[in-house]
Amino acid sequence: MTDNAPIPFLDLITPHEELRSELMDVVGKALSTAGFIGGPAVAGFEKEFAQFCDVSHCVGVGSGTDALRFVFLAAGIGPGDAVITVPHTFIATTEAISQVGARPLFVDIDEATYNMDPAQLRKYLEEQCDFNRTTRKVVDRKTNCRVAAVVPVHLYGQMADMDAIQDIADEYNLLVVEDACQAHGAEYFSRNENRWRKAGSIGKAAAFSFYPGKNLGACGEAGAVTTNDAELAEKIRMIRDHGQATKYYHDLEGYNGRLDAIQAGILSVKLSRLASWNQQRQQSARIYETLLTPLKELVGLPTEPSWSKAVYHLYVVRVQAREHLQKVLAQANIGTGIHYPIPLHLQKAYKGLGYAAGSFPVTEKIAREIVSLPMFPGLREAQQHRIAEAVAEALSAELPQVVPAGTTA
Ligand SMILES: *Cc1c(COP(=O)(O)O)cnc(C)c1O
Repeated sequence: MTDNAPIPFLDLITPHEELRSELMDVVGKALSTAGFIGGPAVAGFEKEFAQFCDVSHCVGVGSGTDALRFVFLAAGIGPGDAVITVPHTFIATTEAISQVGARPLFVDIDEATYNMDPAQLRKYLEEQCDFNRTTRKVVDRKTNCRVAAVVPVHLYGQMADMDAIQDIADEYNLLVVEDACQAHGAEYFSRNENRWRKAGSIGKAAAFSFYPGKNLGACGEAGAVTTNDAELAEKIRMIRDHGQATKYYHDLEGYNGRLDAIQAGILSVKLSRLASWNQQRQQSARIYETLLTPLKELVGLPTEPSWSKAVYHLYVVRVQAREHLQKVLAQANIGTGIHYPIPLHLQKAYKGLGYAAGSFPVTEKIAREIVSLPMFPGLREAQQHRIAEAVAEALSAELPQVVPAGTTA
């Protein structure tokens, strides 16, 4: 019997079905108390998420983009400054840089992890910047901007090589801001500190998104900043709320960028399941690896260095004939995605930055080859067998005889 039932790229319905009554209680409580903005639900979630990330402060905000922007603002980054990140990320990373008046600068990624390559970061600073050792100021020679910060993005749920990046940042007096929007719960083994550290706990501050499709997703828009810096956290609390700590006493101009109470309550309910959901993603990743390893000449699989515990926000493979693969999978009723097809430095929006094609060869190469396979908690092993079969068919390869789906757990 062949099962042709659709396998979605992402299932956002089933997890909410299971939590329906708890989630409805959150909405009910907000209605009966008229607690819509701020209050105990927001404070409660902030405390829980800070604990989850192993940091002392969490500030709930309206989105991951707000989180990044508010960190830059609070850190005093603005016009005349530049912030280094990678061209292989979602545009929100660089939008937040531009929105505070700073200039995004790119360095290429590492081909094995798809994250910022520390060697490229060093090369850029050594070859394209002037570093004044007295003022400890770094200036990008081409734009004359002060290079103020570096934003490693923990893409697909795997952390960037933070020790290496932090060492370079310390050497060059750069602020490190983690874009942890895809990495809730990911871990990194710090050789410098000889311990595992959570995403969002290493840099000066980190940004999280709770967009519905993220590993921890709200039922709407939401985000958070995590930090161990009390002063920075306090400043961001003001920035998210029109620059006030006391109502109508505005110490500065801020934004309307608060986390609302219903989303905070929903996030508290879902946070209690996050560790288990991440484990399910990791288990699905191991199953994909087992199923697809026989095709490894044709399919590049994700690699997890020994210092990384990834949480597989996405399961991304590389193939030569990507469009064909996607077509065959679509015919088999299997959803796929591409994250992301056009590197940021080649986007129309960033024409003004002046980067030519060929500037970041690793990013440009992998952008042509990557495909994201279905990945979500609750993805069944039998479904993964079907996906692997379809991948093999698309590549005209044979899979070895596998244990029939359903006979294993
Ligand atoms: C989702 C995401 C963001 C932005 O988050 P929003 O909540 O959508 O504003 C930023 N960076 C990365 C890498 C993301 O995946």
